[in-house]
Formats: sequence, C-alpha cells, structure tokens
Amino acid sequence: MLRAAASAAAAGALAGCDPHRDADPGAGPVLRASPSGAGHAVPAPVHAARPPTRVPGLPVEIAHGPRDGHAVALTFHGRGDPKLAKALLAEAERAGARVTVLAIGDWLDEQPAMARRVLDGGHELGNHTMHHRNICALPADEAYAEITRCADRLRALTGTIGSWFRPSQAQRATDLVTRLARKAGYPHVLSYDVDSLDANDPGAPAVRRTVLDSVAPGSVVSLHLGHAGTVAALPPILDGLRRRGLRAVTTTELVT
Ligand SMILES: [Zn+2]
Repeated sequence: MLRAAASAAAAGALAGCDPHRDADPGAGPVLRASPSGAGHAVPAPVHAARPPTRVPGLPVEIAHGPRDGHAVALTFHGRGDPKLAKALLAEAERAGARVTVLAIGDWLDEQPAMARRVLDGGHELGNHTMHHRNICALPADEAYAEITRCADRLRALTGTIGSWFRPSQAQRATDLVTRLARKAGYPHVLSYDVDSLDANDPGAPAVRRTVLDSVAPGSVVSLHLGHAGTVAALPPILDGLRRRGLRAVTTTELVT
C-alpha cells in the first residue's frame, strides 16, 4: 500500500489527459488514491502504474494498433499459478519484451504481490473484471460491479485502476459493457485481433504456430498466464516476431 503514494503522484500528472475524469466523478480515482504512505520515505517504484488514458483518434474498442508500424502487443489474461506467471514475465524480460497483463480481481486478492511484479518488469497492468464471469450476459448492476471491484483492487495495490479494461469471456464488449467501462474510468475497451487459443493447452508448438500464422504489425494478441505451454511458447514467439522486424511492447506503447 505504501507504494501507492508514489504511483498515484506519477499517475496524477497524467490524469489531466483524460477529459472523462472531469465529467464523471467515478472516473477520477487516481488523485485520491494515496491514503497511506504520507510522511514515510518510500522509494519511488521504478515503473509506476499508468492510469487509463483516452487516445485521440482511436476507437472506443481497440482491436489492434497501427498496421504500418513495427510493434505488437502481447496481452495476458491474468490468473493462475504465480510461479508460471513469474516464469513468463522473466522470459519476456530476458528477450527485452514488454507485455500487458489484464488481471482478474480475485487473482489479485490471492496474489497481491503479482501486481507489483508485473509493473516492476516494465509491463502494463489492466482490469479483466473481478471474477471473470460472462460479463456481456450480466445485468448492468452486476456487470458494473465486476468492473469496479477489480478497479478497486488495482487502485489499492498500485495507485491507479489500471491502464486498460478487457471484458471477461468476450472478445468484443457489448455497448452496455463499453458504457459501464467508460463510467468506471476506462475510455477504451481492449479487444484483440489474434487469439492464441493457448487456454486450451494445445502445446507450445501449436501456440507458437497459431500466433505467428496470424500476427501482423499492430496486432493485439490474446494469451493467458497460468499455462505452462504458453511459457514455453513465448521465447519462440518472440524469436519469430523479431525475425519479422516486430517488437513486443506494452499496449500503451503500441497505440500512442
Ligand atoms: Zn480472460
């Protein structure tokens, strides 16, 4: 919790970029997100959590970045064995890659240290709902709670509600879920254009093939933490990207 103060201070500097913060009190948690830490000499984290930012010119729902660039974003459903998550992050870091982890709230309750671990690697952290229910099928009040309860966890652990929101059990958000996400402070919904199908545990070679057969400049690739095959597939995926002149960057770096 103590680190939240420094994170929030850094994040607060960015809050002015987002016009939604002024319009919706629920969208501006960053500036009041540092209830603890005052008066303590807490070293600033190397990588502060980024708050959500509206990116002018981008659609509300982002499925990919620029097709004429040289970057892709590898985005991970954030849940599962923390040992596998740490192994995956270490593989990414060994290759100089940055990823985006969309954390599920109940995973953060079980593994609160993972939020800081993700950020400390220079990666990006986002919201993937509280319980990973089929959010597009829920009534509005329950869907909104799924978003805000995960946002609360992220805010408590990192000082911001996370850079991005991705709906659970859905590649695309419904209009209702998109509206609720915006109300909760996320100007964009993060979709993807490449599904690695890694959650089915098809084996590392199949995950690598699926990703490299479909990926293009600007792609946002959907992957999952907590799967050994995904950990094993990551180095050859990164090799394959490099051979095509593509770098794995954070989602923010991809789209801004
Ligand atoms: Zn998911």
